[in-house]
Amino acid sequence: MQIGIVGLGLIGGSLGFDLIQSGHHIYGLSRRQKTCNHAIRRGAVSQASTDPKILNRAELVFLCTPIGSLAQSLALIIPHLMTHTVVTDVGSVKAPVVETLQSLWPNFVGGHPMAGTAETGILAAQNTLFKDRPYVLTPNAATNLRAIELVKDVVIQLKAQLYFASPSDHDRAVAWISHLPILVSAGLMSSCIQESDQAVLSLAKSLASTGFRDTSRVGSGNPELGRMVAEHNQVALLKTLDQFETSLKHIRALIEHHEWNALEKLLQENQTARPMFVD
Ligand code: NAP
Repeated sequence: MQIGIVGLGLIGGSLGFDLIQSGHHIYGLSRRQKTCNHAIRRGAVSQASTDPKILNRAELVFLCTPIGSLAQSLALIIPHLMTHTVVTDVGSVKAPVVETLQSLWPNFVGGHPMAGTAETGILAAQNTLFKDRPYVLTPNAATNLRAIELVKDVVIQLKAQLYFASPSDHDRAVAWISHLPILVSAGLMSSCIQESDQAVLSLAKSLASTGFRDTSRVGSGNPELGRMVAEHNQVALLKTLDQFETSLKHIRALIEHHEWNALEKLLQENQTARPMFVD
């Protein structure tokens, strides 16, 4: 198939690697010529350009630019698409994105691969990033059925685990397991660096090991992505933050009032619950 990828960064470049591997011809469109050159040299695309005309033969297009630029990216390419071209996106928030992009292009299906790294850009793109990872499609009642089938077939070729959800259910679920963890982890790092005793701060930096590496990682990654998910998934994220504040206050009260058995019980419940979310 002739497939276009707009935004040759971590996600766009990684999609390119796997789709070329599956035998597709990949047309890359990116903002900077340097990114196009890297993508061609690394083998993430068959050809690439900064000119949207490159997409005029694409049957399917993946929009892989930042959430706040997706509508602008689609508007830029629309004059160059065939009327039957199917467009999908990879944005980490779905309800506002689907509403806007679907109004611009009827053959649109929202999507979100649940895969990534702390790095950004074409040089961070990698093979098999999506293998065995969830990939959510978020069609609604107005979504064209042929478009859903086409995107579904390509997601299966990525060897990803395919899920379907409404855009708003997607946003509420990822607020819990992706967006809240980013903000909680960011709060952890912001708190640590407030330690006013320089000797203690310096010692803490030297002693930080795997526990701190795990808990600080997601809040110290791509700042633009963190800002975008907070901005575009604000309502769902605030609800999860409210619940988190309540839970944290409860834990604090247990500690303050020496309720060690209750604290241990809560931690035991968490130990039982975690495998239901991750292995
Ligand atoms: P990235 O590595 O920074 O890549 C973004 C690409 O978009 C770059 O190649 C850049 O092209 C282009 N770009 C940046 N700003 C732009 C703008 N204002 N207008 C047009 N093009 C622009 O980002 P990413 O991590 O791949 O994220 C891309 C999308 O994937 C986002 O919508 C994000 O929500 C979604 N996503 C990310 C992750 C993750 O963990 N990173 C996971 C799932 C989904 P040039 O280099 O040519 O400037």
